[in-house]
Amino acid sequence: MRTKLVAGNWKMHGSLQANQALLARVKDGAAGFKCLSAVCVPFPYLAQAQSVLAGSKMAWGAQNVSEHAQGAYTGEVAAAMLVEFSCRYVLVGHSERRALYGESDAAVAAKFAAALQAGLTPILCVGETLAEREAGITGEVVTRQLDAVIAGSGVAALGRAVLAYEPVWAIGTGQTASPQQAQDVHALIRRRVAGSDAGVARGLQILYGGSVKPGNARELFAMPDIDGGLIGGASLAAEDFLAICAAA
Ligand code: PEP
Repeated sequence: MRTKLVAGNWKMHGSLQANQALLARVKDGAAGFKCLSAVCVPFPYLAQAQSVLAGSKMAWGAQNVSEHAQGAYTGEVAAAMLVEFSCRYVLVGHSERRALYGESDAAVAAKFAAALQAGLTPILCVGETLAEREAGITGEVVTRQLDAVIAGSGVAALGRAVLAYEPVWAIGTGQTASPQQAQDVHALIRRRVAGSDAGVARGLQILYGGSVKPGNARELFAMPDIDGGLIGGASLAAEDFLAICAAA
């Protein structure tokens, strides 16, 4: 039985003042839940997340990481720096990073490896665009994104990571994948991993992300291969995020 994880992705939202109330509320609320929970905040708010959440059930993390350990990479943040703020998680390969910042499968694989090497748990995001789904190549796209990481770090590395299936057409659009649509891709991912290592596949947490709300979380999380959610918009409203945690 895999423990469910609900991870918030604040994207580029927040302020010191607004975060304080949000973090305090989700920290209190999460204390009563069985599921694991976390928030991935913008870099400047890591110290605040650390200070409010330290010692609580809720973990925290970042939304991106450099593939390099240090050096002349202006504007980048190394995995070891995230560790200094006691991050547990870091998102890698979010579709916004892939689409808006040109992160290739190879770059994502390098970031995944850097995160693991530093002792972080990468949350590897994969997912197809609407055009790719309509072209019937969802499985091909997700497999390609996953295989790049397996080629770089080995399948056993997935045992120290989390996967998030996030159909691009469902992110921030209000158009959620149906539980069966999501389940089909989650099962495909697990089968793919099982082809190399059945034990890793059995233990792999695969989150669903894309317009998860309190009203649809329960039926998504009831699917056998959906092990929680990666939550964007709804993670910015404490009561919505907590209701999603309750559903998990
Ligand atoms: C996300 O940002 O990863 C996401 C799933 O966003 P939303 O929940 O708003 O669709």
